[in-house]
Amino acid sequence: MPQKTQMNKEKCPAGIRDCPVYQDYIALQKAYRRLKRFSIKDELTGYYNYSFLMATLGNEMERTRRSGLPCCIILADIDHFKSINDKFGHEAGNLTLKTITGLWKQNIRQVDYPCRYGGEEFLFILPNEKLFNAIHTAERLRKKLARHPLYLKKQPVRLTSSFGVCEYNGLSHHSANELIEKADHSLYQAKQTGRNRTCPDSLPPPADSGQLSMAERMALFK
Ligand code: GH3
Ligand code: MG
Ligand code: MG
Repeated sequence: MPQKTQMNKEKCPAGIRDCPVYQDYIALQKAYRRLKRFSIKDELTGYYNYSFLMATLGNEMERTRRSGLPCCIILADIDHFKSINDKFGHEAGNLTLKTITGLWKQNIRQVDYPCRYGGEEFLFILPNEKLFNAIHTAERLRKKLARHPLYLKKQPVRLTSSFGVCEYNGLSHHSANELIEKADHSLYQAKQTGRNRTCPDSLPPPADSGQLSMAERMALFK
């Protein structure tokens, strides 16, 4: 077993060769690290789990209330994902979720929190970020997936995703749940208006959009 070989290589501080107490200690350390990881992360995707999401979002909103610096959330849902399970099976569906979340993780900042909200819905917490930039991030994720060729059982498959985005500026006393509800409402709009799109809960201020006209700003969201 490779794990055992690795363990035997670890040196007991007392210099005892193949020391059973030290080997137990190393094994316990590994088990502890694994438990710690899975207490905050989703096993399939490696994204943060629901309870970590709620605690972190609450903290970031509190930070916003104190600092005045906005934070944003992006709620993402894979379009017609059920058909992947139906056509290729649940295991292929799992593999697809791993691929998508891996792809998206490479396209967010190190300080952002990628979380699994539930099923094939993911929530990204973007600390210290304005709505305009969060919309751009969501669009980047949307395009990455739409352009990414997937192969399931040797068949090429194209998948798209829809996004709801909203900003918290600290002026209202919304709870984390209420903020997610707003993002969910925008996500619903994205689904209703054709999927494969990003809908913000409001338009970003013109100052953030540079010299773009209203028509150009609206076009950004498709
Ligand atoms: P929509 O565009 O409206 O979002 O359509 P949809 O098919 O993606 O939505 P629906 O809510 O009808 O189905 C979601 C599917 O996602 C059904 C469920 O089995 C699948 N799913 C959720 N979590 C997992 C998972 O962990 N693994 C796999 N393989 N499938 C999952
Ligand atoms: Mg879906
Ligand atoms: Mg869903």
